[in-house]
Amino acid sequence: MSKKAEKNGIESLARELLISRKNGFFDVTDEKIKKADDFCEDYKKFLDESKTERECVAYTVRLAEKNGFVPFDSTAKYKAGDKVYYNNRGKSLILAVIGKEGCKDGVRIAAAHIDSPRLDLKPYPLYEANDLALFKTHYYGGIKKYQWTALPLAMHGRIVRKDGSYIDVRIGEEEGEPQFCVTDLLPHLGTEQMTKTLAKAIEGENLNVLIGSRPVRTEDGAGEKLFKLNVMKILNEKYGITEEDLVSSEIEFVPAFKARDLGFDRSMIGAYGHDDRVCAYPSLEAALNCKAPTHTVMAVLADKEEVGSDGNTGLNSSFMKYFIEDLADMEGLNVRDVLTKSKCLSADVGAAFDPTYSSVYEANNSCYLNNGVSVMKYTGSRGKSGTSEASAEFMAEVRNLFCKNDVLWQTGELGKVDAGGGGTVAMYIANLNVDVVDVGVPVLSMHSPMEVISKLDVYMTYKGIKAFFEAK
Ligand code: MN
Ligand code: MN
Repeated sequence: MSKKAEKNGIESLARELLISRKNGFFDVTDEKIKKADDFCEDYKKFLDESKTERECVAYTVRLAEKNGFVPFDSTAKYKAGDKVYYNNRGKSLILAVIGKEGCKDGVRIAAAHIDSPRLDLKPYPLYEANDLALFKTHYYGGIKKYQWTALPLAMHGRIVRKDGSYIDVRIGEEEGEPQFCVTDLLPHLGTEQMTKTLAKAIEGENLNVLIGSRPVRTEDGAGEKLFKLNVMKILNEKYGITEEDLVSSEIEFVPAFKARDLGFDRSMIGAYGHDDRVCAYPSLEAALNCKAPTHTVMAVLADKEEVGSDGNTGLNSSFMKYFIEDLADMEGLNVRDVLTKSKCLSADVGAAFDPTYSSVYEANNSCYLNNGVSVMKYTGSRGKSGTSEASAEFMAEVRNLFCKNDVLWQTGELGKVDAGGGGTVAMYIANLNVDVVDVGVPVLSMHSPMEVISKLDVYMTYKGIKAFFEAK
């Protein structure tokens, strides 16, 4: 055998036996890339319209109704291909398409979350100090507090008056509207601050939002709380509310900029709230475009994931189980039999390998931008705690499904062993005795005001979820 032939033999053996780890971009056609770019144009619109869980539910309901979905009625009879949605308190949503086989062999679930880290108002937020008017906030979810200062913020949310009437507010997103910010210390006076750790330099209690600097005008400038009063006067004229109405409000301050293409090649999107709308959007699009599936499919958009999924709009509550129970009852089935045969893609973001911070990743077991939807067997921290680990059998099933449907996919862990970690909704669904695996889009700068994802990965996540919904 010539040296060359031997080399060829080894090369073909390597091709046969070893995983090829070239960048996934080389595995897709120009046509697919075009499709991914087009898909992401609507995703950017969705992001800009859905900066809070309430806005996301409202936008998705409008989209769903346009696509023939109707409110779920637990007393109705449904047939294959019927499309329904269940709106849980305006903050979480289930879209379902009834399958030809119904749910006798379980349902197919894609579960993503639509809450993101942000600054919430405290119950008594409004105060004045040294001739400025400010709002006190209580941050929501895991943030690096220093990232939230000196950043344009918009105010979103709902204020409910004592009589139950409400107004939805959204200030700072449109051209010409005022914005807000949390101030930071000038470097000139930051000598002591600069010696503190990142965790301590900006304290949670100091994330105060600047909202005004002019007092109500009085004859002689004398009077109590004139700066605070001026803000309340403006809010009262605009919304008909008093300070006490803020006690029954849900106001969220979020980054005020819009989703934008990132990079000279426009291959990425920089935006607030990719985690986890970047998986919610592919999940809901897969449901909207799913025609007459074999098994009943559900896209679940949940609230409260960023604070541990507790609460009646989070997936540690029973709302999804009750919905499946209603479906089961309609077919005369026992919900526990349906759950036991059900399968779920827990669609949440992964930590993309970042060469600038390579020391916290293990390069061989990390997800990379443009390598497709990431399939993660487990997440968690401290020796796989706080996670549900998918079985080898279910991993094989999903891997096979993605390969058969031309879905570019990769696998990885969330950083090095013991570097940190995190969880998803996977375990709450797995705890109902459902087969679950984590899938999702790799993100750079996760939980920061501007997270980064690759357009190709968003599209591949959509293709993956769609294939899962349409599987026999
Ligand atoms: Mn997430
Ligand atoms: Mn998160």
